[in-house]
Amino acid sequence: MQTQNTQNAQRIPAKGYAVFGKDKKFEPFTFSRHPLGAQDILVEILYAGICHSDIHSARSEWHEGIYPMVPGHEIAGRVVAVGEGVEKFKVGDYAGIGCMVNSCGECAACKKSQEQFCENGKTVFTYDCLDYFHDNEPHYGGYSDKIVVSEKFGICVPKNAPLEKVAPLLCAGITTYSPLKFSQIGKGSKVGVAGFGGLGSMAVKYAVQMGAEVGVFARNDKKKQAALAMGAKYFYTSTKNVAQKYDLIISTIPTPYDVMDYVKLLGYGGELAIVGLPPAVLAPKIDTSALVWAANRRVYGSLIGGIKETQEMLDFSLKNHIYPETEVILASEIDRAYENLTTGKAGFRYVIDMKRSGL
Ligand code: NDP
Ligand code: ZN
Repeated sequence: MQTQNTQNAQRIPAKGYAVFGKDKKFEPFTFSRHPLGAQDILVEILYAGICHSDIHSARSEWHEGIYPMVPGHEIAGRVVAVGEGVEKFKVGDYAGIGCMVNSCGECAACKKSQEQFCENGKTVFTYDCLDYFHDNEPHYGGYSDKIVVSEKFGICVPKNAPLEKVAPLLCAGITTYSPLKFSQIGKGSKVGVAGFGGLGSMAVKYAVQMGAEVGVFARNDKKKQAALAMGAKYFYTSTKNVAQKYDLIISTIPTPYDVMDYVKLLGYGGELAIVGLPPAVLAPKIDTSALVWAANRRVYGSLIGGIKETQEMLDFSLKNHIYPETEVILASEIDRAYENLTTGKAGFRYVIDMKRSGL
């Protein structure tokens, strides 16, 4: 086992692709990561998925971003060094890293492995976030050649896994798996999926695997055949004249829309899980009066998923061969991918091949 003496540990040089402002294009960026601590792993990044959250963040659509920003929270790679206290990984193992790299570990939420809701406010998100545990330095994400994280936040990936398909599971996978579990979806459940991109397609695949009857809501029929091939039974381009009533609808929509259009499609006591996060100034509001008349239907939000559940999702995905539809690109193509994702020209998930990107 390769270990590093943490007392004399040096900062780790890294290279990546960053934006230097909300209207800027991606550029190569040289930086350094904090030294390998006793409980840390150093991961050589092989693949990084592009999530629509990367676009919202890079363009400061939720809040003013921290620049330079290296996005990327769908990371798959190989462990190349481990701190002296690491037990979960050894050099050569594959690891996945998602939206978080650390949290307090002591509060009720962390103890329940809901680290994304750390009650001490110490969740360190993978990028666009200050690292409380390392002098509040900005943390840089996965569009880079290597990353250092606490072993607790590394997800174990078996050696035979297709890494370019594993990367998007670390966000798109867990963010859709989690509400399906929370709403106890199973055989015979009726599940609607609104927004059929990276997250929506994973929601369809998981719901089908769990035995649900699935309907997809998109704004045109370009992906109808893909939805049916994934096992969806219905495909709608409008919320009008929909005969089915749903137990759960997961909204992954990243643009403004009327939330009540989907609430109305739920059966009595049905649930709308909102995961899509449109730009803050355009975020949909709920008509509370309409909700009062809406037959005890529930609306809730869902944020990624905890580390324990992320490992469960990964194991479930691999066991059942549930993988995202991916298009592998080079880092030089990130701007084009962002453009395609915001103009309806994208498929499901772009994944950057970091090794071939020439960093
Ligand atoms: P994608 O861009 O891959 O997919 C979004 C899909 O939504 C596209 O297919 C798009 O269609 C469709 N869409 C856009 N507007 C509408 C609309 N008004 N009605 C129906 N469909 C629409 O994005 P992702 O799947 O990566 O992310 C989706 C959202 O989820 C983002 O806002 C992202 O930030 C958020 N997210 C939230 C997380 C959480 O923890 N809650 C975690 C990860 C992501 P078209 O092709 O026509 O544009
Ligand atoms: Zn994401």
